[in-house]
Amino acid sequence: MAEAMLGLKRTHRCTEVTAAEIGSTVTVMGWVQKSRNKGGIIFVDLRDRSGILQLIFEEKDCGSENFAKAEKLRSEFVIAVVGRVEARSGAVNENLATGAIEIRAEQLRILSESEVPPFPIEENSRTKEELRLKYRFLDIRRPDIQRNLMLRSKVATMTRAILADQGFWEIETPTLIKSTPEGARDYLVPGRVHPGSFYALPQSPQLFKQLLMCSGCDRYFQLARCYRDEDLRADRQPEFTQIDMEMSFADVDDVIGVNELLLQKLFKEVCNFDLQLPIPRMTWREAMDRFGSDKPDLRFGMELKNVTELVKGCGFGVFTGAIENGGSVRGINAQGQGAMPRKKIDALVDFAKGFGAKGLAYLAIQEDGSYKCSFAKFMTEEELKALASAMDGKPGDLLLFAADKDKVVFDVLGNLRLELAKQQDLLKKDDFKFLWVTEFPLLEYSEEENRYVAMHHPFTMPMDEDLPLIDTNPGAVRAKAYDIVLNGTEMGGGSVRIHQADIQAKMFEVLGFTPEQANQQFGFLLEAFKYGVPPHAGLAYGFDRMIMLMVGADSIRDVIAFPKVKDASCLMTEAPTPVAPKQLEELGIEVSGKEES
Ligand code: ASP
Repeated sequence: MAEAMLGLKRTHRCTEVTAAEIGSTVTVMGWVQKSRNKGGIIFVDLRDRSGILQLIFEEKDCGSENFAKAEKLRSEFVIAVVGRVEARSGAVNENLATGAIEIRAEQLRILSESEVPPFPIEENSRTKEELRLKYRFLDIRRPDIQRNLMLRSKVATMTRAILADQGFWEIETPTLIKSTPEGARDYLVPGRVHPGSFYALPQSPQLFKQLLMCSGCDRYFQLARCYRDEDLRADRQPEFTQIDMEMSFADVDDVIGVNELLLQKLFKEVCNFDLQLPIPRMTWREAMDRFGSDKPDLRFGMELKNVTELVKGCGFGVFTGAIENGGSVRGINAQGQGAMPRKKIDALVDFAKGFGAKGLAYLAIQEDGSYKCSFAKFMTEEELKALASAMDGKPGDLLLFAADKDKVVFDVLGNLRLELAKQQDLLKKDDFKFLWVTEFPLLEYSEEENRYVAMHHPFTMPMDEDLPLIDTNPGAVRAKAYDIVLNGTEMGGGSVRIHQADIQAKMFEVLGFTPEQANQQFGFLLEAFKYGVPPHAGLAYGFDRMIMLMVGADSIRDVIAFPKVKDASCLMTEAPTPVAPKQLEELGIEVSGKEES
């Protein structure tokens, strides 16, 4: 039985009905959250996206036909009810916005019935995520996901307004584009009328937004859908959204200035958080040295200390060996953790090994000042004391050391620091610590490809004072690149772009492109640069991540309406799926390897 609305018009969403309406007649529509039949009187909680409203059915008010229908109501039935607003007869429910009122139903239409849903529609669901994602249309009915999507919409709308106010134009760039295999793997789309040729889905609108600056658009932004075919890690999605922007005649400070105002307004409105400007800045070098990470979480201390100089003459081969191989020895002080049981320390050692460490050396300072130390027998009492004092070690502290190549040491201690903070519950979700990380290296050496690759992308401008190094010591060149970091997550990043043909040519050379290769891939951009290009700079946020941080969600899947899972599939639609042979034929595509089903 599914009735039509038959001209009924909804007058209020559930929580729009207030005590001010007492005595008036309203028409409400929504889903049955629950229904309780107390014999002769039926209570129904009606739910829509605004919240919950209590309905009361009694035969004397609604007549026998409506009452009989009300007796059939089950969870998730969709109904329309006309009724009178009354003060609640029972106890006022402080937990509900509408807790002081109820609707005495006079008319009921069952607009559609529902099977028993595979999981209850409720806040803080304990249902397994796979099941929720298979029935995502039901999962989205839950108040927490609804709230996330509502806030996401609000941030999008505000962003548009704020940026428009700053002179930005919202311009859409194409999503069927030329494949430029620098960066992550492209998703490809076959060009039917050009057999053997493919479009790529954009990894970002980077080249187009730079072209828009060449075109004189001055300031551009877009909420852009981007695609990266990467091996998925926990908080990645094959398709995701960026707030993408670009500005002409702009340098680092201009981009930072616009974005600090944007962030201040968004976080005030959405999180009621007063962001103090300017946001602190830290160079990449300092971030690595102090936190072992280019996206340091500043909600707690536990900074890294470099003890290489101090231990280079000691008798502990692990330390001296690492130093002789050009590495370093660094440590962190887990304050107050000196009594950590051996088993837990062993677990930390295993954790460190997961990041490439061969081991983890520790020195636990006992309350009586004595040491429990994994390398005590290789060092004199004086050396241990000097080490503890360099680490600011007090009785009750646990000092942890990694010795290896810098890259490994940073990775191990940076992650260990976060793990310890997690264990000690130091990571408060409503504490927002923003940071600009600046002066990233321009290049990083790829052992795999045996060449330098761009750390950000090949259009990033080197710092003026480092330009002379590009031939002699490319690895030491810093870039005019910056990331905006919030609570240890890279929320966005960008750079000043190269707008001079000679520097761009040099950059391609360092990256190992021949002029022909550069032309083949990026010819249209280089061509545009021949006709008058303004200096320009920009930035893009991971919009999903930004929302995740704002709402305190654990995963970006909780802030995306229809997310994919780790293997890039959609549990609800089952995409990707094989296609009909005829479709492949039309595209001139033959499939060699097929997935076992
Ligand atoms: N396109 C860059 C990215 O996706 C951001 C930027 O440089 O503006 O990371």
